Amino acid sequence: MDFAIPEELTALRDSFARFLEREVRPLEAGVAPELARGEAGTPAQREAAAEVRRRACREGFYTAHMPESVGGWGLSALGVALLVEDAARSGLTLAGAAVGPPNPAAPSPLLLGLPPALRDRYLAPLMAGATTMCFALTEPEAGSDAAAIRTTARRDGDSWVLDGRKHYITNGARADLAVVFAVTDPERRARGGITAFVVPRGAYAVPRTQAVIDDSDIAELVFDGTRVPADHVVGEVGQGFRQAMGFLDAGRAAIGAHCLGTAEWCLDQAVAHARSRTAFGRPLAAFQGVSFPLAESKAEIEAMRWLTYHLAWQVDRGGPATPDSSIVKLFDTDRAYQIADRCLQVFGGQGLLAEGPIEARLRHLRVLRVVEGASEVHKLVIARALGLA
Ligand SMILES: Cc1cc2nc3c(=O)[nH]c(=O)nc-3n(C[C@H](O)[C@H](O)[C@H](O)COP(=O)(O)OP(=O)(O)OC[C@H]3O[C@@H](n4cnc5c(N)ncnc54)[C@H](O)[C@@H]3O)c2cc1C
Repeated sequence: MDFAIPEELTALRDSFARFLEREVRPLEAGVAPELARGEAGTPAQREAAAEVRRRACREGFYTAHMPESVGGWGLSALGVALLVEDAARSGLTLAGAAVGPPNPAAPSPLLLGLPPALRDRYLAPLMAGATTMCFALTEPEAGSDAAAIRTTARRDGDSWVLDGRKHYITNGARADLAVVFAVTDPERRARGGITAFVVPRGAYAVPRTQAVIDDSDIAELVFDGTRVPADHVVGEVGQGFRQAMGFLDAGRAAIGAHCLGTAEWCLDQAVAHARSRTAFGRPLAAFQGVSFPLAESKAEIEAMRWLTYHLAWQVDRGGPATPDSSIVKLFDTDRAYQIADRCLQVFGGQGLLAEGPIEARLRHLRVLRVVEGASEVHKLVIARALGLA
């Protein structure tokens, strides 16, 4: 066993840290007053995030997870995880826009399943940071049980015709294209009866956006006789469910790394506060009631770190990632949320203010315990691996 981070990845992290300081911090300063007021998704913040994305595309960080054949770096899952962790640990709200994963708006390897002409049309602008996408699987009647989706796609001459409704779709209202999962064979469903399609914006309606506990940007999408040419199938007809699960599974190390970096940021802030703030004539850090929860948090962060890096290592070796990907999703999202909650407590009233360093992270981490498989669904996967279900 060798737990050392490869030298080239350490150099990459250094270069990413310089990029964040040079390019992202000044843009963050421009939107700092809005962030301090607890405002999210304002036009200025969206433009600043788009500018980060474009700059990160020029440097290569944003598309590093994509293969070299389409202009990415083919960066290892471990390399991607380290960048995602560092973006979150930086505490810069805009840093998340500098790396593709785990954001479903970023170019997805799923699109490698398109014919070459369509890759040029749809993937190339995503790789340049000029456009964004969304991943549309969940429906009002089918979330955890994704195989129960009702959206259908029917072949009609040289086209497919889609009918149905998706909801909770991240970036749904702004995406330039959607990867949409629809039933093409109701008898077979998850076993060869669901297909993925690329559907350009304008071909579907976005009746409403949905307000949510954190600052996520989610929307409903409606397909009402939506027609796409036959070649807009992503990969092969009938392979959509396998593709969707594979895509989500491949992203678990990135979600874990995001939780890890966010927990590290929260702990960094709480430690600094505990050392500088005094009560009863002593620094907060002198009270075990404050220092012990932070010590526990440090122990849990190290557990998160090695579970996450180990999963990325497994993915890079092409090894089986089940149930480890579920263990990472379950453990990291849950621990990061508990750590953020403890760290917020150390800040007292200041922790509850929108301008405080933890509040928005806590709300965001709460969301991660539900999305991309609720914690209970991952427990089910782990239980199955134990032969219990
Ligand atoms: C902010 C946000 C962003 C999202 N982004 C996207 C996106 O970009 N694309 C997309 O397709 N979807 C997206 N989703 C959807 C998300 O993945 C689903 O909300 C999630 O999978 C849960 O589905 P559900 O909400 O329908 O809950 P349900 O399936 O109704 O489940 C409700 C609860 O029941 C419990 N439960 C369910 N099944 C079991 C079981 N077998 N055993 C034990 N307990 C169980 C769990 O506690 C679960 O939380 C997003 C959701 C949110 C809130």
